[in-house]
Amino acid sequence: MTDTQETLEALLQEDRVFHPPEKFASEANAGPDIYDRAETEPETFWMEQALKRIEWFKKPTVGLDDSNPPFYKWFTDGELNLAYNCLDRHLEKNGEKVAYHWIGEPGDTRDITYRDLYEEVGRLANALKGLGVGRGDRVAIYLGMIPELAISMLACARIGAVHSVVFGGFSSDSLADRIDDAQAKVVITADGAWRSGKLVPLKANSDQAVARCPSIENVVVVRRTGNEISMRDNEHWYQDLVADQEIECEPEPLNAEDMLYILYTSGTTGKPKGIVHTQGGYLTGVATTHDYVFDIKDDDVYWCAADIGWVTGHSYIVYGPLNNGVTSIMYEGAPNHPGLDRLWQIIEDYKVNILYTAPTAIRAFMKWGDEYPAMHDLSSLRLLGTVGEPINPEAWIWYQEHIGGGHCPIVDTWWQTETGSIMITPLPGAVSTKPGSATRPFPAVGADVVDEEGKSVPIPGGGFLVLTRPWPSMLRTIYGDDQRYIDTYWSRFDGKYFPGDGCKRDDDGYYWLLGRVDDIMLVSGHNISTTEVESALVYHESVAEAAVVGRADSISGQAIAAFVTLRSGVEGSEELISDLRETVSDRIGPIAKPKSIVFTDDLPKTRSGKIMRRLLRDISEHRQLGDVTTLANAEIVQEIADKAAVSAED
Ligand code: ATP
Ligand code: MG
Repeated sequence: MTDTQETLEALLQEDRVFHPPEKFASEANAGPDIYDRAETEPETFWMEQALKRIEWFKKPTVGLDDSNPPFYKWFTDGELNLAYNCLDRHLEKNGEKVAYHWIGEPGDTRDITYRDLYEEVGRLANALKGLGVGRGDRVAIYLGMIPELAISMLACARIGAVHSVVFGGFSSDSLADRIDDAQAKVVITADGAWRSGKLVPLKANSDQAVARCPSIENVVVVRRTGNEISMRDNEHWYQDLVADQEIECEPEPLNAEDMLYILYTSGTTGKPKGIVHTQGGYLTGVATTHDYVFDIKDDDVYWCAADIGWVTGHSYIVYGPLNNGVTSIMYEGAPNHPGLDRLWQIIEDYKVNILYTAPTAIRAFMKWGDEYPAMHDLSSLRLLGTVGEPINPEAWIWYQEHIGGGHCPIVDTWWQTETGSIMITPLPGAVSTKPGSATRPFPAVGADVVDEEGKSVPIPGGGFLVLTRPWPSMLRTIYGDDQRYIDTYWSRFDGKYFPGDGCKRDDDGYYWLLGRVDDIMLVSGHNISTTEVESALVYHESVAEAAVVGRADSISGQAIAAFVTLRSGVEGSEELISDLRETVSDRIGPIAKPKSIVFTDDLPKTRSGKIMRRLLRDISEHRQLGDVTTLANAEIVQEIADKAAVSAED
């Protein structure tokens, strides 16, 4: 990546740096002094956090165990229970504090206190025991965003069972694959879920999956939508099952390294991997990052607007916030139902202080129009966050102006299902931000940018992001496939963890994520990242969202093919196409000009909203499409394929 510096300068033309507001900085949970000490003694830093933030049944004396790399372990002589830490220990002081303000899509609401949650979890934990679920058994959870989802996870954690949450938007086949891979004994599902005003038939999907999965012994069904479903032997209504259960359920003392959950990655790059997380290190990582990155205060109303079906929800809707005793918002439905201002209405109603969402959502809000956030009083917000994809500077600025009222710091947090918790991020009171940059590694996290040979690339410069030392919340393996764990993450660069993402560092050493290395394009001998070209396209006022891929080209090696979604009200035209090519040329250089531009109403995305470039590459090169099971909007693929075929003939 030789020409990355030029590109970066183009991106930074306006040289926008945002300093933490003075008041924010003076009251922040973490100041700049936190970095140096953590960097000198990372293991001590994590041990201190583990002891400070967790109530252990048996305190650990060992930090990192690196006797068998890359199978690292943390706090191996410690014993704890995550449900106990998330619930029981808050009861005395904070039992009546709201854990979740839950908002159903149709408009029904529930305020659930820590005591309510404790009681519900105890009942379900006892019920699961009654169904023969014990320590180490796997439980699949296939629900919409209702409180019972968090309750089910915590009930598993309480008795030492391993949960495998499958996002409620997945099909029966995807569910079956995941149940089968984990050999789950029980499925917890619901009659249905509400999404965009429509009923998602969860139980019917689960029936089809269970028919294929002999490992399932019992099915538990939450009544949510009230639609008619069929119930067979060994299928139980959740509400009936928990009704007569005792509240008290002894939390199982678990070893720090016992398995907590399996979660499948979102499938952007191919077949999902069953990522394994354990107890003590995971909780240490999520509790620490949640507190420092989101700068949590006692009376904050905090909203991570992700789905619990993704790691973001596991770490920052369930375990991090509950361990830290915070009040969260949990919203069941779609952001555009019934109106395009639904989220802003919720922020106004509940006086939300912290909002954490994804760039794909922010670009959708931009596309819908500035008038929707403007309808509401969003002045309660004091901090914004993003995760999931690189955020293009335009979206960053829009987010800050239209949602953050110009005064909220933004934390752009880079991490993965595999890392368990946030790895590269600003600390909002300590680090100045630049739109589009995730800034620097979290304290005690070791990161570097290396070249093909694994040698550190001098600053400024770009290459492959690696993590250079183990961290507590890291994945332990891929479920049932240690070899794939080694091959995927530890084989490319000796002794370093390879996440698969490209990255560069600017003169200040700030990290700019460049997307997946598989997506990086080689045009006439120059490496060009998809992220940069997409950012340049989105810079144009007519563009809401863009995806680019490199397709084989006889002259330049690879030619850049762009797929562009326009803002509402804008029509695509030949003129606009040349205008867009000029914009890219101005901002990056003529070499990065897309050879073809196709306008499309939508882009192929995973169910977590990430653009699936590998499918666009397949389309551009007229190949059979790869794995599409994790795709959210399959219809769009054919539509784009038809348009791409026409544009290729031009
Ligand atoms: P799969 O591994 O199955 O292809 P996935 O990588 O999309 O799926 P996740 O673990 O949910 O599944 O996503 C992690 C990835 O998301 C990161 O590796 C990175 O590519 C991207 N990502 C997350 N946060 C950011 C961010 N703040 N900036 C840039 N990229 C990000
Ligand atoms: Mg990944």
